[in-house]
Parts: sequence; structure tokens; C-alpha cells
Amino acid sequence: MVKPDGVQRGIVGEIISRVEKKGLKIVALRMNVIAESVAKEHYNEHEDKPFFASLISYVTSGPSVSMVIEGKNAISTMRTINGATNPADALPGTIRGDFAIETGRNVVHASDSVDSGKREIGIHFEMSEISDYSKIDEEYLYE
Ligand code: UDP
Ligand code: MG
Repeated sequence: MVKPDGVQRGIVGEIISRVEKKGLKIVALRMNVIAESVAKEHYNEHEDKPFFASLISYVTSGPSVSMVIEGKNAISTMRTINGATNPADALPGTIRGDFAIETGRNVVHASDSVDSGKREIGIHFEMSEISDYSKIDEEYLYE
């Protein structure tokens, strides 16, 4: 997900481009303002944390871009592309390392496990919004 700060800062294309150039496959994509109830469900693991209220107001503050991304090791690869949660710790070359300063404005989200990925897809997408397709570069990306 490109969070609202990423949309406002005009780096949606840059972020999507990194995903595409890596070779991962985007199988669903949408821009919308996430409802507060949806944001709370998405981040329910953090509901007791001191930053929960500010996190919910941040991710619902404007449109964000949600994607379902497919590919070998897609979960760990996307976490690596995004970089550390605190942009101060994120390496140059990662999205957070290149484009963010503070944890509370860290531009992107990615699921942290297959189970959380399935759960988050279910929160944000209908199955009919997910495209099952092949890309012509697959035989050159995978051996
Ligand atoms: N967050 C925050 N303050 C913190 C920790 C987290 O504002 O001290 C926000 C930040 O936007 C982060 C999100 O809460 O991306 C979810 O936190 P998590 O630890 O799950 O990090 P992520 O999975 O996004 O790297
Ligand atoms: Mg997380």
C-alpha cells in the first residue's frame, strides 16, 4: 500500500515502478480513502499501542493506493523493497530509506507474513478485483 503521504507527495508512480521493475506482478490495484473501520481492522494488532490513534488518522487522511502483489517470495521481497519501519533505519535504495524521515510518515505498508497477506487482501479487496493472468516476462524472470 502507498499510504496517503506517498500519494500527496506524488511518488505513487515511483513506488509502483519499483515493484514492476523488480519483476513482481501486480494483480489488483485501487486508489481510495480507507474508511476508519477498515483501517482499524487492518491495524488491529496495534490497537493497544500508543501510536494507534495517530496511525489510524494518518492512513485515513486521504487516498491511498492498495495493491495485491504476486511473485516468488513476494512478502519478504516487498518488506525488503519498503525498508525498515523507522525510515531513519531504512537503507538507501529502499522506499522508506529514499523517501521518508519519520516512522509515522513512512509512505508504504506491506504485509509481514502469508497469513497477514491473506487477511489484508480480504479486508481491502473482493476476489473479483484480483486478476489471474500471466506476464510475458515470466520465463525470463524465473528459471
Ligand atoms: N507506527 C508509528 N509509530 C511507531 C510504530 C509504528 O506510527 O512507533 C506506524 C507506522 O506507520 C508503521 C505502522 O504503524 O508502518 C505499523 O507498524 P508496524 O510495526 O507493523 O510496521 P510495518 O509493518 O509497517 O513496517
Ligand atoms: Mg506491520
